[in-house]
Amino acid sequence: NVMVIGAGTMGNGIAHTFAQFGFSVTLVDISQPILQKSIATIEKNLDRQVKKGTLTEDVKQATLNNIKTSLDYSPAKDMDIIIEAATEKKELKFNIFQEIDKVANNNAILASNTSTISITEIAAKTTRPSKVIGMHFMNPVPMMKLVEIIRGIATDDETYSTINGLALKLQKTPVLANDYPGFVANRILMPLINEAVFALMEGVGTIEGIDQVAKLGFSHPMGPLALADLIGLDTTLAIMEVLHNDIGDPRFRPAPLLRKLFNAGYYGRKTGKGFYDYTGDVPTPIKFNLF
Ligand code: NAD
Repeated sequence: NVMVIGAGTMGNGIAHTFAQFGFSVTLVDISQPILQKSIATIEKNLDRQVKKGTLTEDVKQATLNNIKTSLDYSPAKDMDIIIEAATEKKELKFNIFQEIDKVANNNAILASNTSTISITEIAAKTTRPSKVIGMHFMNPVPMMKLVEIIRGIATDDETYSTINGLALKLQKTPVLANDYPGFVANRILMPLINEAVFALMEGVGTIEGIDQVAKLGFSHPMGPLALADLIGLDTTLAIMEVLHNDIGDPRFRPAPLLRKLFNAGYYGRKTGKGFYDYTGDVPTPIKFNLF
């Protein structure tokens, strides 16, 4: 029994993946419309897998049947694994772990999908730091092979080996990372995205130009600005802030244009606008007032 807390970009993908591999999943969020939207997204993504021939209609139905929803944490008492994938805010995550720790059974593992926040610090908010671990999926979860596993200072061997085995059962490739801001994935990826935003801000290239350079020059499947829109500019800024504050090195300062877009409510795909406008048939680069 797996509980996924947060039914946004990552939560729906994590719930989808566990359910597809036969786990019984309870997906939790703060409102019914968010949960409904999340289930509709899972259904749409399953349809795409069926169309591509990578999934049968029967598995699609079984996957949907394996997912329940809840607006509170009470089902946590029957869960073996609880994976938190809520908004990337420290205080929010601390609060969720404190609350879940009270309800969950003593043997349950509490995992976080956080991109940057210290697993050691999250674990210290609970009465079971040895059973707290980072299980960091990549976006989009059903497609991406990597799961970064992060051991906090107190995570025990049994918890690590259970989560490692679980990632393998989901046909993912687990890679162990140490508990430092951004772990491995975002320590490398986020400064690249942030630098692309600086390059745009300084007029080094256009939105399309910068993304083309990364696609054609580095064989990246998508450019850094399009990727930031996929991740969410709110999440991208939150990650840069943790890297900047917790490592303390000015080279991690968030690009002011990233903050400006966040302040304007341009969060990327999830709000329909970021570096690109997603409200039409094809994404088109936004024309900013940069002067
Ligand atoms: P999101 O904004 O798309 O979704 C977050 C969800 O959490 C929202 O639906 C929100 O309503 C819900 N939420 C907030 N408070 C809650 C609470 N108390 N209880 C239950 N649900 C609550 O964010 P996301 O992109 O899915 O990110 C979730 C986590 O995954 C973050 O920690 C983020 O850093 C991490 N992550 C994101 C990506 C990515 O590409 N977006 C990749 C890897 C990891």
